[in-house]
Amino acid sequence: MAGPELLASLAGASHEHEFYTPIPEGYKPGRTKYLIVTGSVISGLGKGIFASSLGSLLQARGLVVAPVKFDGYLNQDAGTLNPYRHGEVFVLDDGTECDMDLGSYERFLDQDLSNRNYMTGGRVFARVLSRERHGDYLGRDVQFIPHVTGEIKSFLRQLAVSATADLVVVEVGGTVGDIENGYFLEAMRELQYEEGPTNVMFANVTYILSPRALGEQKSKAAQLGIRTLMAQGIQPGMIACRADEPVTEQIREKISIYSNVPVDRVVGLPDSESIYRVPVLLQEAGLDQATIDLLELGDRVASRECVIHRDEMVNFWRDFADRITGPRRELTVAITGKYTGVRDSYASIINALEHSGAMLGCRVSLRWVETSRIKSAASAAEALRGVHGMIVPGGFGQRGTEGKVYCIQVARTERIPFLGLCLGFQLAVVEYARHVCGIEDAGSTEFCPDAKHAVIDLLPEQKQLEGLGGNMRLGGRWVDIKPGSLAHRLYDGQERVRERFRHRYECNPEYLQALEQHGLVFSGKAPDHPIMQIMELPGHPYFVGTQFHPEFLSRPHRPHPLFWGFVDACKRAPADSS
Ligand code: GLN
Repeated sequence: MAGPELLASLAGASHEHEFYTPIPEGYKPGRTKYLIVTGSVISGLGKGIFASSLGSLLQARGLVVAPVKFDGYLNQDAGTLNPYRHGEVFVLDDGTECDMDLGSYERFLDQDLSNRNYMTGGRVFARVLSRERHGDYLGRDVQFIPHVTGEIKSFLRQLAVSATADLVVVEVGGTVGDIENGYFLEAMRELQYEEGPTNVMFANVTYILSPRALGEQKSKAAQLGIRTLMAQGIQPGMIACRADEPVTEQIREKISIYSNVPVDRVVGLPDSESIYRVPVLLQEAGLDQATIDLLELGDRVASRECVIHRDEMVNFWRDFADRITGPRRELTVAITGKYTGVRDSYASIINALEHSGAMLGCRVSLRWVETSRIKSAASAAEALRGVHGMIVPGGFGQRGTEGKVYCIQVARTERIPFLGLCLGFQLAVVEYARHVCGIEDAGSTEFCPDAKHAVIDLLPEQKQLEGLGGNMRLGGRWVDIKPGSLAHRLYDGQERVRERFRHRYECNPEYLQALEQHGLVFSGKAPDHPIMQIMELPGHPYFVGTQFHPEFLSRPHRPHPLFWGFVDACKRAPADSS
């Protein structure tokens, strides 16, 4: 007995059995298929990009695709992680603070995700421990197998039911052989045993070394990584070989012979100038069709009407990647942030600039400005010389905030296009209060706790909170847009839009009148609280701040309007400033 019959016999298993496989109501074995993506040799190879690109191609074949990311760390979510170590904290509409890979899934699949699409080791254990306290395990000793692995499988099956997914694409974070993700991999092995081999398949993303001293590619590390996977009872169905250069035929053959994977399903994925070219490469390598064949989805695909046909989708990505990498007008945008690890810490901002740049026919290159060294408007002007625009991104704490205020002052007075995101919005309010409204000691209680004029202060509901993690004002909220404003025009006349938030502080309502009387316009407000969500400065080429994070909603198919407006203004910035 195997697959669906086995699964049917496990449903309702009691404490007398060794099985613990809770099957959610409405679950139909074989209805949802699973593609599990693992990594070997090193992490950071772009498993998320691989999984989301393949998902995008399969979506274009008419399949309903639901992605999941498993992260091995014991944090319950990514909210308390330092973005300079772990990459940006991405925020979903339901307020989940998660790994930046979920951002790739939303962008590639053009889907809004939720906490059903994200699981951490911490959350798995929190669930198991809470069940134990409730006596749900009926007196049994609680074990990694079957209870921890059972919790993980049950999470996936719940997603399968709620998303009515044809295909759940699971990315297992980290690399094969890590203690942190060992129990996730074991759960996936069990999943294949229970669901059957045509319902669950594995793809491994590995790395081919090319030591400079040797001048040739070496497959040994990849072989060992894949062998570790196979020693855990997992046979990959396809292998993607990441490498600096195109992968040779000989290396692909070597990997094939060591792994039992036919050579046409061992594909090379050399570094590419744009991540948006990956779907094109995967389609050319035939991996979408291979997935359909291995999971026996051919009939389902044949019976589906596709909203976007595969060729159209591949052409979209090809055209998009060509526009990003082709020759275009260069614009320089300053971003105030720490230089180390910036690409990952500001991944969504960089993506949002790429989306708008591709649409407007220009390439945005970034200049990182370390603001803790900026102590005057003159040094800010020096740091910003020649830029076409400036972004002050989100952030927490005190470091570099005064320097950022000087940079904003220069952008305002020298008419440099400016976009302030969350902390950037708050600092723009502080700058305006100080230098235009004449409230000299205006500040934010986040970094000047004794400020006489706290123009930025804790949100009222935050004053009672204790502890960290998951308790900011988080997730999707509505924003009412002021008719006739720049925001109204950029949002194409919409009067209410939904945006994503992550903050504890806000513009203090006591100072609104003074700010507005001096010309600042709050063009976005919360519908039922006096929380200011967008500010703009009429007469300036582009001076916009948002209490939310528009970068989380920019998609290749739909660049975010406020980023579009910003890049468009940068493009129109006078040539002599370049
Ligand atoms: N630190 C600020 C706050 O908590 C801004 C947060 C952010 O930029 N995401 O409100």
